[in-house]
Amino acid sequence: MTQAQQMDTLALADLPPASLTRVLLSIGSDALSRPIELPILVAKGRRPGPTLGLTAALHGNEINGIPVVQRVLHGLDLQALKGTVVGVLVSNIPGFLGNRRLFMGGWDLNHLFPGKEGGHSGQLYAHRLLHQVVAHLDVLVDLHTASAGRVNSLYVRADMSSPKTRHMAKLLRPQLIVHNPPTDGTLRGAAADLDVPAITLEIGNPQRYQKDFIRRSVAGIRAILADQGMLRKRPQTPGLPPILCSKSGWMYTDAGGLLEILPELLDHVLAGDDVAVLRNPFGDEIARYQAPHAGVVIGHSVNPVTATGGRILHIGVVAPREQE
Ligand SMILES: [Zn+2]
Repeated sequence: MTQAQQMDTLALADLPPASLTRVLLSIGSDALSRPIELPILVAKGRRPGPTLGLTAALHGNEINGIPVVQRVLHGLDLQALKGTVVGVLVSNIPGFLGNRRLFMGGWDLNHLFPGKEGGHSGQLYAHRLLHQVVAHLDVLVDLHTASAGRVNSLYVRADMSSPKTRHMAKLLRPQLIVHNPPTDGTLRGAAADLDVPAITLEIGNPQRYQKDFIRRSVAGIRAILADQGMLRKRPQTPGLPPILCSKSGWMYTDAGGLLEILPELLDHVLAGDDVAVLRNPFGDEIARYQAPHAGVVIGHSVNPVTATGGRILHIGVVAPREQE
């Protein structure tokens, strides 16, 4: 087993060419005064070029991105690689160790960017992750999954009005692409503010390894690396083109009970179609929910136990073809 190198800053320039380095990057310390260290794989090519970053498990229970980063980094031909690939295997250490989405203190890290030096634990961690890692990058793919109790398709959230992120989204060849300008507080938005074009890849379900989605994500990221001139272009067998959505939104229940979801992921629904049935504990139907507009099912709840305001379906509005 190769020893990991401890670093306080990501000293990419100091790494030798044609090297794969296991880095433990110090980002703070825990209550036992032990360092909190981000595990990062850094592949530096023999020749110079751009720096592409991958971040996995910013939500600590979103695991599918970890093997994606491992396979991309271990699969690189370092002699042929131009530039550097930085793969953060676990971005939210406290969440990952606790097997949960959130950071310590119940903070959602992906609402706290750009963070703040001198701020609370979550703000400080977000600030350091941004400046110690993301600021060194030229492009970023942030890897997520659905949250606990929900499932997702393989889809990209990207600002499709920006040519760079639009192009990256299409190269990933996901099942769906949702146009979504970066919103305040996300890592993607904070990266964009640092002039690091960034997209979010949602890889299926939390707390799972989903082999097909992992394989497709690795192939998509390799296509981005090739497009950046970092790898040789290889002929790809293009799968189905992604469904483009101009926007998307969640439907929520207006009562509590046990929820049954009717459509499957990627099903197309029409306005007024029944999409969910809510029953009380006795089995009596207390509500039936209809799609508010036509669209495609991006994700949905899978845990029937639902309080008032529980999530039902994430529906994407399919973009007219001329917007593609
Ligand atoms: Zn997430």
